[in-house]
Amino acid sequence: MQKIAVIGAGTMGNGIAHVFAQNGFKVNLIDVADAALQKALQTIGKNLDRQVTKGTVTEAQKADTLANITTFTSIEQGVQQAELVVEAATENVNLKLKIFQELDQFAPAGAILATNTSSISITKIAAATKRPGKVIGMHFMNPVPVMKLVEIINGYATEKEVSAAIVTLSEKLGKVPCVVNDYPGFIANRILMPMINEAIYSLFEGVAGVNEIDTVMKLGMAHPMGPLQLADFIGLDVCLSILNVLHDGFGNPKYAPCPLLVNMVTAGYLGAKSGEGFYKYTPGSKDLVVSDRFSR
Ligand code: NAD
Repeated sequence: MQKIAVIGAGTMGNGIAHVFAQNGFKVNLIDVADAALQKALQTIGKNLDRQVTKGTVTEAQKADTLANITTFTSIEQGVQQAELVVEAATENVNLKLKIFQELDQFAPAGAILATNTSSISITKIAAATKRPGKVIGMHFMNPVPVMKLVEIINGYATEKEVSAAIVTLSEKLGKVPCVVNDYPGFIANRILMPMINEAIYSLFEGVAGVNEIDTVMKLGMAHPMGPLQLADFIGLDVCLSILNVLHDGFGNPKYAPCPLLVNMVTAGYLGAKSGEGFYKYTPGSKDLVVSDRFSR
C-alpha cells in the first residue's frame, strides 16, 4: 500500500496524515471544510517544526512530508486511487454510515476502508458497504505522531488478510498494533471510561476533591494524568457519548454515566475545549487550576 486517503482533517485526521506522509506514503487529506484543511496543514507544519527543533526530523524530511500531502474537499475525487482509506470524521453514527456508503462507491474495489472511531460498531459501519470483509477499525491515539498504540478492531466480517495487512502497515508507521474484537468500547474505552466515570462518581458523592482524586491516581498508580484531567482533555461530551455506547451496548447499569457528567455536558462545561470542566483553562497558561465549582 502506498496511496492513502484520510477523511476528516480535525485533531485526529491531521495527525494520521502527518504520520503516513512522514513514512513516505502519498496522502490525500479530505474534509468538507476547506478551513479545516488549511488549519490541518498549518498544524502539521508546526508539529514538524517541533520535531526539527528536537532533532528527530531534518528540514529535508519536513519538506518531503509536506510534499506527500494533497488536500481535497470531495470524497469522490480524493479516494479514486486509494489503496487504504482511514476515516477520521466527526463521531456521529449516521455521518459515518453515509461516508462509508460513499467510500464504497468511489474507492477502488480492492481498497481497505478503515475507521478511527472511538466507539461506534465496526460491524455496523461495515454493513453499510458492499465490502464488509474489507472494513476494519484503525484506532489511533491522540496525539497521533507521539502515541505508539494503534488499536486494530476486527468487525464480525473483517477478513483475516485485511487484519494482517493493517497490523503490518501499523508497524511500518513505527506503531505498536493490538488486535481486538468488535464489542462496545473495544478495549481502550471499555476500560478507560468506567475508570473516568468512577472518578466522577467519587467527586459527585463527596468522597474526595478534584485534586485528591487526580493525585491518588497519578502518584499511587503512576498515571501520567489523573482521570478528571484526562476527561477534560478528551472532552466531557465525548466521554458521555462513549459511556452511553457502553451502557446501551451491554445493557448493564454499571456503565450508567454519572449524573454530574450529564449535567456538566448539558450546561456546556466540556473540559479544555470549552475553557472549563473539572479544571478551568486560561489561554496561554499551562497551570492546572481546579474549577471554582469544585473548590473545597
Ligand atoms: P474533529 O472534530 O477534530 O474533526 C472532525 C473533522 O471531520 C472536521 O474537520 C470536520 O469538518 C470533518 N468532517 C465532518 N463531516 C465530514 C465529511 N462528510 N467528510 C469529510 N470530513 C468531514 O474530530 P476528531 O477529534 O479528530 O475525531 C475524529 C474521529 O476520531 C472520531 O471518530 C473520534 O471518535 C475519533 N477519535 C478521536 C480521538 C480524540 O482524542 N480526539 C481519539 C481517538 C479517536
